Amino acid sequence: MKAAVCALCGKRFALDDGGGSVRFSDYEPPPDGSRAWGHLWFCVTHLSSAERRSDLPTAAALEELRKRYWVSWIRGWLR
Ligand SMILES: [Zn+2]
Repeated sequence: MKAAVCALCGKRFALDDGGGSVRFSDYEPPPDGSRAWGHLWFCVTHLSSAERRSDLPTAAALEELRKRYWVSWIRGWLR
């Protein structure tokens, strides 16, 4: 079973349960196959909001998402 961690709330989720990755406007494929910047995982709760901001660069999109879902974000930090 594949799992990922939501970039916003820090929740660990199984990919079978929904959720997925979003490429933001500054996404660049990694030349060496390492983890790419601009490519983040989101749980099913936050995926659609993240997708709506995929035309933004990663930092700007995350800032907007954290403002909107600050409760989830802080819970992720406290976990
Ligand atoms: Zn989440």
